[in-house]
Amino acid sequence: MDTEVVVIGAGVTGLCTATLLAQKLGREAVLCLEKAPHPGGTTGSDRDGRFVMDWGGNGFLDREPRTLEWIEQLGLTNQLVRANTAAAKRFICRNGVLHEIKAPPGFFFSPLLSVMGRLRLCLEPFIPPKKDNSPETIYGFASRRIGREAARIMVGAMVLGIYGGDAEKLSMTHCFPRMVAMERDYGGLMKALLAIRRKRKASPMGPPGTLTSFQGGTGTLIEGASAQLQDRIRFNTPVSALARGDNGYEVILPDGSVIRCRAVVSAVPAYAAAAFTSDFDAALSGALGAIPYAGLAVVTLAFPKAAIGRDLDGFGFLVPRGEGIRTLGCLWTSTLFPRQAPENMALLRVMAGGSTDPEVLDLSDEELADLVLKELTPVLDIGGKAEFIRIKRHEKGIPQYTIGHEQRLEAIEAAESRHPGLSFAGNAYRGIGLNDCVLSAERAFLRTLECLHRSD
Ligand SMILES: Cc1cc2nc3c(=O)[nH]c(=O)nc-3n(C[C@H](O)[C@H](O)[C@H](O)COP(=O)(O)OP(=O)(O)OC[C@H]3O[C@@H](n4cnc5c(N)ncnc54)[C@H](O)[C@@H]3O)c2cc1C
Repeated sequence: MDTEVVVIGAGVTGLCTATLLAQKLGREAVLCLEKAPHPGGTTGSDRDGRFVMDWGGNGFLDREPRTLEWIEQLGLTNQLVRANTAAAKRFICRNGVLHEIKAPPGFFFSPLLSVMGRLRLCLEPFIPPKKDNSPETIYGFASRRIGREAARIMVGAMVLGIYGGDAEKLSMTHCFPRMVAMERDYGGLMKALLAIRRKRKASPMGPPGTLTSFQGGTGTLIEGASAQLQDRIRFNTPVSALARGDNGYEVILPDGSVIRCRAVVSAVPAYAAAAFTSDFDAALSGALGAIPYAGLAVVTLAFPKAAIGRDLDGFGFLVPRGEGIRTLGCLWTSTLFPRQAPENMALLRVMAGGSTDPEVLDLSDEELADLVLKELTPVLDIGGKAEFIRIKRHEKGIPQYTIGHEQRLEAIEAAESRHPGLSFAGNAYRGIGLNDCVLSAERAFLRTLECLHRSD
């Protein structure tokens, strides 16, 4: 055997799996293979001494103990920063105006929705919970509970902001399992929110937990984990195929060289795993390849604060479809994490693209920057020039848990049972957030240990 375990992919998930395994089995027992010349996948940060610019995720909610434990294990706890409390305010752009999303009863007086839309939303506590287990889209769930207008304007915008996805295609159970549980356990969302607020005394409108990052951005996590693994990550090393070997697996590289190991964790996007498993297990490869992805562009802009007429007093804003604006949303980074920009500068992060507007990714950098500037200027009352604009493209950035995801997961889990010692981890399966990636890494870690112990 060349090594005990090969972890394929050095994004957050692969790095988390590899560091957990290295801590348990020793560094030499783990080898992480990464296609790119650097670690991180969709997570990373650029820094220029004044600004911190995250490539993908700009934080995680500090509600998942396993993430905080991993950060502690990496020795990074002292670098954590919680988002400014101003971040509790969130806005939706409708008819060119930013409307704050308010908790009831303030919500009822907000012009974000029409009077009919607000009245329909007030009926939510009286809507009976869904009785059967048939698959439901996010839009189906939301329009049933809060009405079509609120579903389109509020939920549709949120789904684009989080998943870059179409609420009419994504599966409610797989994207928002907590909300499904709220309906099931409390009989409705309002009833659940009030019960939870009583317990936590927190705002029911914000997500539970506080948005958290590092002084140096989420890339700190990638750098900390990579430093622990040192030469046990091999860069510019794409895996091209997988085969069964004596007492384990053969991981095959494009030059035909083979790495022999007892267990394999795939922590690459599902389409990449589909490619290297096509000759290994066609049913598995088919299920992996059927998970669609949406592309996203992250446009980071910096302006002198004096150039922005609107007070950036919150998290930022989302834009529902149908508003004639292609931007999906804009986060006010310098409000969220003030030390990620100089005091006199406003740092903004705009998302564009997603599954409802994939053509945005075909625009040149210049066209994309022009589009974003044209759309942001009236909304934020911008009266000056951007100091810089940077664009990061994620061609296949976020997996889409569409209806049918359950069957794909079942097929992948069945393949894991057919091939002891092979595990699939990452954002393609049971959650896309950084916390979900850590939980998925832990699952792969435990499965791998179990397999190694069984074959000892
Ligand atoms: C724009 C954007 C914003 C986001 N915002 C947030 C946020 O605010 N909060 C949050 O919690 N989450 C956020 N997310 C989600 C989160 O960042 C991702 O789910 C997470 O980074 C995915 O990590 P991963 O390791 O599973 O996959 P990836 O990051 O995709 O890593 C997979 C790795 O596998 C490598 N690879 C691919 N093929 C091969 C091969 N054949 N051989 C070897 N290596 C291979 C890739 O190069 C890559 O490094 C965001 C995502 C995006 C795109």
